[in-house]
Amino acid sequence: MNITDRKWEEVKEEATELLREYIRIDTTNPPGNEIEGAKFLKQVLEKEGFDCNIFESEKDRGNIITRLKGTGENPSLLLISHIDVVPADEDKWEYHPFSGELVGNTIWGRGALDCKSLGIAELMVMLLLKRERIRLKGDVVLAATADEEAGGKYGAEWVVKEKFPLIKTDYVINEGGGDGILTDKGYVFLCQTAEKGIYWMRLKFKGRPGHGSMPHEDNCIAKMAKAINIISSYSSPIKVNDVVEKFVEGFNIDKKIFDQNLSNQILKSIEDKKMAYWINAMMRNTFSPNIVKGGKKTNVIPSECYLEVDSRVLPGYEPEYALEELRKLLKDIVEFEVEIIQKSIPSQSPLESPLYELLEKTINDWNSKAELIPFMQVGGTDSRFFREKGIPAYGFGPLLIDGPYGEHLAMVHGHNEKISTDNLLFMIKTLWNIVSKFCS
Ligand SMILES: [Zn+2]
Repeated sequence: MNITDRKWEEVKEEATELLREYIRIDTTNPPGNEIEGAKFLKQVLEKEGFDCNIFESEKDRGNIITRLKGTGENPSLLLISHIDVVPADEDKWEYHPFSGELVGNTIWGRGALDCKSLGIAELMVMLLLKRERIRLKGDVVLAATADEEAGGKYGAEWVVKEKFPLIKTDYVINEGGGDGILTDKGYVFLCQTAEKGIYWMRLKFKGRPGHGSMPHEDNCIAKMAKAINIISSYSSPIKVNDVVEKFVEGFNIDKKIFDQNLSNQILKSIEDKKMAYWINAMMRNTFSPNIVKGGKKTNVIPSECYLEVDSRVLPGYEPEYALEELRKLLKDIVEFEVEIIQKSIPSQSPLESPLYELLEKTINDWNSKAELIPFMQVGGTDSRFFREKGIPAYGFGPLLIDGPYGEHLAMVHGHNEKISTDNLLFMIKTLWNIVSKFCS
């Protein structure tokens, strides 16, 4: 199972070319057109003797699945990534986002981080398992799916619903985590083990219409303004779970942050503001008023207006809890009607499981000072579809972040997304160490 350094260099070159080619296939969602990405992966896999299935959930929304059979003595593992990418604002890029340009040892392009690099790393692990003739005790499944960036309806959600037997495994490794951040005590690797749920609401406020020249007390815009004021200055009670606790511990942040009375003070003292917003969102249900609509003419008092609120709920809550909380907040102050625009349930995977423990060990074997820390994604990934089926899923595409973490995060869905070939190899090697141990 020992792969020589020389061989790893060859793997790096091969993976670099594969990633460049994969980036050149424009899978911007919408429309996605993931079928072209799926065909590309299929052709690479079939050349080495894999049996692949491509499924279209809708025309051109391709999803690919292949399975390497094991003896069944060990648990099985799914390696999944998504084929689609978010749109790129071409004028703002130094190199064209779909050029897959190799500049020095850096590969440029949309998807270089989110998440075509993981797709290629997982593909390489599959190829290596076959080339090295690893005797698998547990099945290893590779899947690349459509539509993650728009919620997964034509991708993971569809595959889990329609092709579950093909994709079913005991564990899942997905995107959404794996960043290795250099801190005073060494590298800290983030593993995504939980996701918040989504609850988007449209609130409608009604009032008495009239002429703007004769204001009265029943103006719906004024009611909405009251509601916005209350919602935006509200912070929901803190709920500590094991993920946020380990996260705060890992970054050496004062645990008084969990104290209802001291929390805001400690959050304010955190220098990195993004980090503070993030921790806040990991321990609270949140409400963000983001869209207002109402009024047509300056001299007309409208009869109704709307406010859209983006609410995110912690694991342990039903999404509907957001509405209960909101109703309590606005009770006796302002009346409104509600329409639910979108919802998804929060999800989490155990922090004690053979796979999580192996991730920890692998990072530790790489560097004894490095540490794995779980985190809660305050947005969403495809992992939730598997967790809903009771399958532990972990977001872990390991990378070494060089430079400020904020700059790295800005590239994901931003301009000038890129990855170094060394980092691509790091991802492949680390995943190889995990998969080859877990499944053989
Ligand atoms: Zn992604």
